[in-house]
Amino acid sequence: MPFQLPISRRKFMQSASLLTVGLAASRSWLPDALAAAHTRLPLQEFNYSDVSLASNFHNKQLEETHSVLMGLSEDSLLKPFRQMIGQRAPGDDLGGWYHYDPNYDWHSFDAGFAPAATFGQWVSALARSYAITGDRKIRDKVLRLNRLYAQTISGDFYENNRFPAYCYDKLVCGLIDSHRFVGDPDAYGILEHTTDTALPHLPEKAVEHGRDWRPGKDESYTWDESYTIAENLFLAYQRGAGERYRALGIRFLDDEYFDPLSEGRNVFAGRHAYSHVNALCSAMQAYLTLGSEKHLLAAQNAFDMLEAQRFATGGWGPDEMLRAPDSEDVASSLTNTHNSFETPCGAYAHFKLTRYLLRVTRDARYGDSMERMMYNTILGAKPLQPDGRTFYYSDYNFQGRKVYCDHRWPCCSGTQPQVATDYRINTYFRDPRGVYVNLYIPSSVRWTQEGTAVSLIQKSSYPFESVVQFEMTAARRQEFALNFRIPSWAEGGSISLNGKRIMAPLIPGSFATVRREWKTGDQIELALPMTMRLEPVDHRHPKTVALLCGPLVLFAITSTPPVVTSRQLLAAKKTGNQNWQVETATAPLHMLPFTAISDEQYSTYLVVS
Ligand SMILES: [Zn+2]
Repeated sequence: MPFQLPISRRKFMQSASLLTVGLAASRSWLPDALAAAHTRLPLQEFNYSDVSLASNFHNKQLEETHSVLMGLSEDSLLKPFRQMIGQRAPGDDLGGWYHYDPNYDWHSFDAGFAPAATFGQWVSALARSYAITGDRKIRDKVLRLNRLYAQTISGDFYENNRFPAYCYDKLVCGLIDSHRFVGDPDAYGILEHTTDTALPHLPEKAVEHGRDWRPGKDESYTWDESYTIAENLFLAYQRGAGERYRALGIRFLDDEYFDPLSEGRNVFAGRHAYSHVNALCSAMQAYLTLGSEKHLLAAQNAFDMLEAQRFATGGWGPDEMLRAPDSEDVASSLTNTHNSFETPCGAYAHFKLTRYLLRVTRDARYGDSMERMMYNTILGAKPLQPDGRTFYYSDYNFQGRKVYCDHRWPCCSGTQPQVATDYRINTYFRDPRGVYVNLYIPSSVRWTQEGTAVSLIQKSSYPFESVVQFEMTAARRQEFALNFRIPSWAEGGSISLNGKRIMAPLIPGSFATVRREWKTGDQIELALPMTMRLEPVDHRHPKTVALLCGPLVLFAITSTPPVVTSRQLLAAKKTGNQNWQVETATAPLHMLPFTAISDEQYSTYLVVS
C-alpha cells in the first residue's frame, strides 16, 4: 500500500520498519544510529500472567463478570447460532439482544436486536481470564465452546444477521485469543472456516454507519461496523493466522474517516461514538503492522479531538454521538439526556487506543487519560448480572443516577468482561531498558531483565492517598530503569529511594526515570500530591464545573444541586477514606467518587456563582 512518508516523520518510520522486518533479528549488528532508533520501538505489553492485582475494585469486577460467563449454559450460548441456520437448538433462551427472532422488528428495539453478537467477546474474555488464573475449568469451557460453535458455521448466520461484520470481528477476536492464551490447536482452523464463510456476506470495503449496502434489507441492516474490523484482522496476521489477514486488514481500513483525520480535519460530527473510537485502534494497528505513518497521525489527531470534547470523567459521546468541535452539544447534554457515555464499550475502545498510543509515543498523557476513564467510569459500573442486566450508560445529567440498561445482554455485556481482564496489561509496560509503571494499582509484576529474575510489588491506597510504595526483589544486582508516570495534575511530586529523597520536584505529564543498579529490598516511595481543581464542561461554560481531586471526579450527592462558589468547592474537605464534604451557604454537600456511588442521585457538574 503506497503510504505517504513525510521526511519529518522519518524517525518514526525507522522504528516502524524495524518492527516490520521483525524483532527476531539480533540487534548486535545494528549500527549506532539504528540502535538509537531502538528506543523508539513501541513499548511491549506484559503477559496477563506476569501481573497480579491486589485491588478489590479491579478483582471484584473480574470475579463478578467471569462468574456470570462461567455460569452461562453452552446450549444457551449456541442457541441463536443453531436457530439461525435451522439446526435443533435445545436449552434456555438467554433473551435480550442475544435472542434470535426471525420476525424481529427493529422499531420495537426489544429482544432480538443482535443475536449471538457477544459470543466471540465472551470467548475472548474467558481465554484472557485463563491466561490470568490458569484455571483448567475456564480452558475446558473455551475449548468446548469453540468446537460447538464450529459445528454451526454457515452463511445463513451472516445472511440472517443485521451485524455480519460486527459478529465476525468478535468471533475473530475470540479465536485468536483462544489460540494465544488457551493454546486451542483448532482455533486457526475454525478461524479459516469462519472467514471463508463470512467473507461473501461482508461488504467489499469498510462501509460507514447508516449506508445501505445490502439490497432488500431494512434500515437496521445499515448499522453494522465493518469500519472497525481491521484491528483484529491485523492482530490475526501478527499472531501467525496467515497472510490473508494482513490483506483483509488493509481492505477494511476506513480511509474515508482516517484520511481527513490524518490531515487534522475534524470529521467527528454525527459519527457513532464508540465504534469510531474503536476504529482508531484499526488505524493504530495499520501503523504497527504496516508502518503506515498516515494512520498513526489519524489516531493521534483524533485523540486530541476527543480530548477536546470529553467530559471531566474521561467519557465522551453523549447519546452515542461524536460532536462537532466547539459545539454546544456536550454542555446541553447535561440537561437533555441521561445517556452520557456508553461505558463498557467506550472504555474498552479507549483503553486499547490509549494503550497503543502510549506504547508508540511514550507520552504520559495517554496514561493520564486511561487513569481518568478507569476511576471515573468503568470501575464504578454496576456489576454484570447472570440474567443479562448490564450497565450501559454513565449519566452526567444534573439529575444523574446509576442504572441498568433497559435491554438484557447488550453490546456492553460483551466488552465489560474484556475490560475486567485487561487492567493488568494497562498497568505496566516494558522495553529492553526497563519497566514503565503506568497505573497506580496495588499489584505486583515480574519479568526477566537481562537474565535476572526481577519482581516489583506496588502498595498504596491511591488515589485516596497520595503516596505509592514499591519494593524490589531481584535474583542478583541488576541495572535497569524504572519509569513512573507523573500525572499532569501532580504538581510538587517526589521520589524517595530507601528513605532518601532522590528526585523532586517531578515534571507533571512525563515519565520520571530512575536508572540504577537494583537489589532485593530496595524501597521506592512516590508522592503524587492530590491537587484539587475545577474543570469546566467547555470553554463557553466556565461556570459549569466538575470538581477533581487527583484523577478522581468528585460527584455531588444531591437531588437539587445547590448554589456554590469555586472557592467553596476547592476547599472540599476529606471526611472519610472515600468521602469529601463541601460547605455551602445552606447545607453541607456530600461528594463521592464514582466507585462509591450506588443508587443515590448525583450531579457530575455544578454551576458556580
Ligand atoms: Zn456497548
